Amino acid sequence: MTIPEISIPITEIPLEKNIKLFIKREDLIHPDISGNKFWKLYYNINQYLQQRPENPFMITFGGAFSNHIAAVSALGKDQGIKTLGIIRGDELQDRWQDNPTLAFAHSNGMAFRFVTRAEYRNKESLTENLHKEFPDASIIPEGGTNILAVKGIQHMLNEGTKSFDYLCTAVGTGGTVAGISKFAEEHQQVLGFKAVNDPTLEDEVFKLSERKNFKLIEAHDGSYGKITDENVRFINNFLEYYGIQLEPMYTGKMMRNIFRLLEDGFFPENARILAFHTGGLQGIPGANRMLDEQNRPLIKLMKS
Ligand SMILES: *Cc1c(COP(=O)(O)O)cnc(C)c1O
Repeated sequence: MTIPEISIPITEIPLEKNIKLFIKREDLIHPDISGNKFWKLYYNINQYLQQRPENPFMITFGGAFSNHIAAVSALGKDQGIKTLGIIRGDELQDRWQDNPTLAFAHSNGMAFRFVTRAEYRNKESLTENLHKEFPDASIIPEGGTNILAVKGIQHMLNEGTKSFDYLCTAVGTGGTVAGISKFAEEHQQVLGFKAVNDPTLEDEVFKLSERKNFKLIEAHDGSYGKITDENVRFINNFLEYYGIQLEPMYTGKMMRNIFRLLEDGFFPENARILAFHTGGLQGIPGANRMLDEQNRPLIKLMKS
């Protein structure tokens, strides 16, 4: 993998306050390997390819709407690596074609194995068996979080991010916020907006970053993947006012909670806040299918 030669814009979100909010459009790093997933995979893939595997083969895990599954499949196609996705939910076995994320992954050549939720939860034994079955494969954990993923996140920080007091990101498995925490400047405070209701995340992030410059804030609306009408409304308003597309699993929840903190007076006067747009827009059609089946308001898509 090579680093794309584009400079990622940092755009102001104008506020009627003495506080500055900007968004760094990490979602623009690659059309199909979006946002933080690009950087989390970067060192993992390059290290694997340096070993010159005879038949490059990558295995990973994810749910039906997973941005990580979409990214790994696109990367496999890009780099000539065969890919296998271990997908949560055996009910998808016969109807993955109806799921936009899985249909996209399949079109990139990814093969699937569908496992029950119980089997999926027992990822350690799944991984062990996969290692036995495919000894030469690279097995990447769910969400791609490991020490090399954390290392990759340093590329989201640069000269342009140094002047900010707060660095904000959405949190799933915690690799991204750990990387930001690890590579942040001394004066920067890192805020992670939890899209997952998981009380062990603080410990996980600290293990990976070894710094205490971060704070995790609940932003999941109850559970991972839950999409409230309020969240949809926020995403649609945000697109209308600022012309930036957010998605319902991560970036919409992060931004909505940043606005909540702004209203609550959490940030001091003259604070400079930077929010990372970590991508994941591929998940919107799948989310809209689900919302449509429930006769609920849909997420508007930016005309491109
Ligand atoms: C995966 C993902 C995250 C969470 O990243 P973690 O490193 O797993 O915490 C945030 N935003 C988007 C859009 C993602 O796809």
